[in-house]
Amino acid sequence: MTFAYSQMPLDRCSNERKNKTWLTAEFNKPETLFCLINNGKCFFKLDEIAPLLLSKAQLLTLNVDQCIFLGRNEQQAIFAVDQNKLKFSDQEELLTLGQWLSLRKHTSLLHPFDAAILALAKGLVHWHKSHQFCGQCGNINRSAEAGHARKCSECRNMTFPRTDPAVIMLVERMFADGVPRCLLGRQANWPDGVYSTLAGFVDPGETLEATVIREVAEETAIIAENPSYIASQPWPFPASIMLGFIAQASSEKIDTRQDSLESAQWFSRQQIANFAVYDSAINSEGQQNTPQLTPKYKMSSSDSISAYLITAWLNKEIGKH
Ligand SMILES: [Zn+2]
Repeated sequence: MTFAYSQMPLDRCSNERKNKTWLTAEFNKPETLFCLINNGKCFFKLDEIAPLLLSKAQLLTLNVDQCIFLGRNEQQAIFAVDQNKLKFSDQEELLTLGQWLSLRKHTSLLHPFDAAILALAKGLVHWHKSHQFCGQCGNINRSAEAGHARKCSECRNMTFPRTDPAVIMLVERMFADGVPRCLLGRQANWPDGVYSTLAGFVDPGETLEATVIREVAEETAIIAENPSYIASQPWPFPASIMLGFIAQASSEKIDTRQDSLESAQWFSRQQIANFAVYDSAINSEGQQNTPQLTPKYKMSSSDSISAYLITAWLNKEIGKH
């Protein structure tokens, strides 16, 4: 199985990138490309939904210390750049070349390699913006190690990009009527009818399995057992990895009053088979999901591991029931 943002085609060159001579040589090669990020949005071509990467010749005022090395493919190195670091005249020039769009709203239209590169660029640019000052002494941090670290200008403390683990779980149960059902929930700010697997962040000092059990209990008061790992998905929005699990429930009565979910419900396979897929790229263009009946329920966004877990359970590829 492969997930959106997981098919990284670049070699991150994690040993070489610490070498400033090597890095500068890569930066100066004419074939090197630059991936621009503007307040969380990615730079796309004007006439199609495809990333627009620029050459050094198009970004003459750029220097290597302003860039984040993403990696190399067989043709060239690719760096990420926060467009706010460009001169204002260069920023204005960009608007004649391309357009700023949300990555997640257009992921389903992108090549999987492009989606992975843009997600990495977006996550790292966000990390630099949110770690401008040293956590030890409060002085200014400067980019180091090709943009994969920040170093304090005073106390020399090094800060590295963090990835916050989050579990995402499909909880199933065999009911007394002989029908297996799975537990899905929704938040109040989601589009109408969208339901998804439960999810939550790992607490310090907690195992992933304990997080699954705790989060299911917190959000729905359901007792989950036997969490079993399925797969992971990079989720740098801004800095997570989603760790997919399946678990069985030993209780049935749902209570969402203790936490943030607007609602949670048990769904049979027959019900889920009638879900529509919520695709923000399609929905943002105002088209209908299905040509005939509009289903009452929709599955969570197609770029997420949640959609995989639900579909795999529907097809009896995961789970005991
Ligand atoms: Zn410091």
